[in-house]
Amino acid sequence: MTTARAATGIPFLDLAAMHAELQADLRARFDAVVDASAFIGGEHVEEFESAWATYCGRRHCVGVANGTDAILLTLRALGIGRGDEVIVPANTFVATAEAVTLSGAVPRFVDVDARTLLVDAGTVSAAVTPQTAAIVAVHLYGALPDMHALADVARRYGLALIEDAAQAHGAEFDGVRAGGHGVAGCFSFYPGKNLGALGDGGAVVTDDPVLSAKIRALGNHGRGSSHFDHRLVGTNSRLDGLQAAFLSTKLDRLDVWNDERRRVHAAYVNAFDEVDLLMVAVDERVRAVHHLEVVRVRNRAAVRARLTDAGVATGIHYPVPCNRHDAFAQGHVEALPVAERAADEVLSLPMYPHLSDAEVAHVVDRLSAVLDDVGGSG
Ligand SMILES: *Cc1c(COP(=O)(O)O)cnc(C)c1O
Repeated sequence: MTTARAATGIPFLDLAAMHAELQADLRARFDAVVDASAFIGGEHVEEFESAWATYCGRRHCVGVANGTDAILLTLRALGIGRGDEVIVPANTFVATAEAVTLSGAVPRFVDVDARTLLVDAGTVSAAVTPQTAAIVAVHLYGALPDMHALADVARRYGLALIEDAAQAHGAEFDGVRAGGHGVAGCFSFYPGKNLGALGDGGAVVTDDPVLSAKIRALGNHGRGSSHFDHRLVGTNSRLDGLQAAFLSTKLDRLDVWNDERRRVHAAYVNAFDEVDLLMVAVDERVRAVHHLEVVRVRNRAAVRARLTDAGVATGIHYPVPCNRHDAFAQGHVEALPVAERAADEVLSLPMYPHLSDAEVAHVVDRLSAVLDDVGGSG
């Protein structure tokens, strides 16, 4: 391979290449925020909140400190807490479960679909109890589960359908973007997400003005109509002016970068033609944004070590299903076989907008050689 990265290795993610495209704009944004001392609240936050609501097809957006708080404050604003159960897929980043526990509710973990590794409406429906108050649909890896079927279950049992869209900025199910399906869509702008800040950040989008106002109050020390009017016990969870300004600049590139991720994914699919490998499927009604490129292998530890030696960085999302973490396992005796097996097999390959087709071919070539050697194909 002739590209420069073949010699130095292929990283898992390349944020520097993304920010190099925007360097002048990001520096100008920094100057504008500092010149106006618009650090907490202010025009840059309002500009981004308005742009992000519009992008997601929603009326309201509330910037918060991170994606975990986006879910937590949504649950609190909906009045969900002690005595309630919230259905959460076992295959997700631990923050989804954390937010539920922090609200006072109990996460009720459910298994995932064997092909997509996403939450499945039939399984959710079977897990509903009289205590169930909400479902968190997680759009893992950049793809959405069947949101029509989940909305039907939520309607049938009178549950709130909340979207954890932290890995799915701009992804669509049946033509509607992530964040546009449930009562609220929760986003993280952690730097590695498809839309990432230059630090932590998060947001909730919704059409409900009362819910939006309550989330804003909870994240701003419970403030009501004035600075010293504290009506609720809130917390400090705000998207700051600098991050909002950076996000506005990066939002201009989101669709282009998501298209580049689709190109990278297509290059992987094309190259996998020759390799006996189990891929994670995407429903045909989904327009995915490929936050992660996940394949399944046996002998994962050996495969991963050999790829590292060959200069190909990989990740694991996630090595332990949420129901098996000490912090969340209490009282959870049920086996969730699909999620538990996936946790042993999933391997995330390099995926980012600036990964070239030649680099993808190189990754797959190395992977194929390793699989032949260690017998890791599924
Ligand atoms: C990143 C992520 C979160 C949490 O976001 P933070 O901003 O890191 O708090 C929640 N859920 C999923 C699925 C995520 O990937």
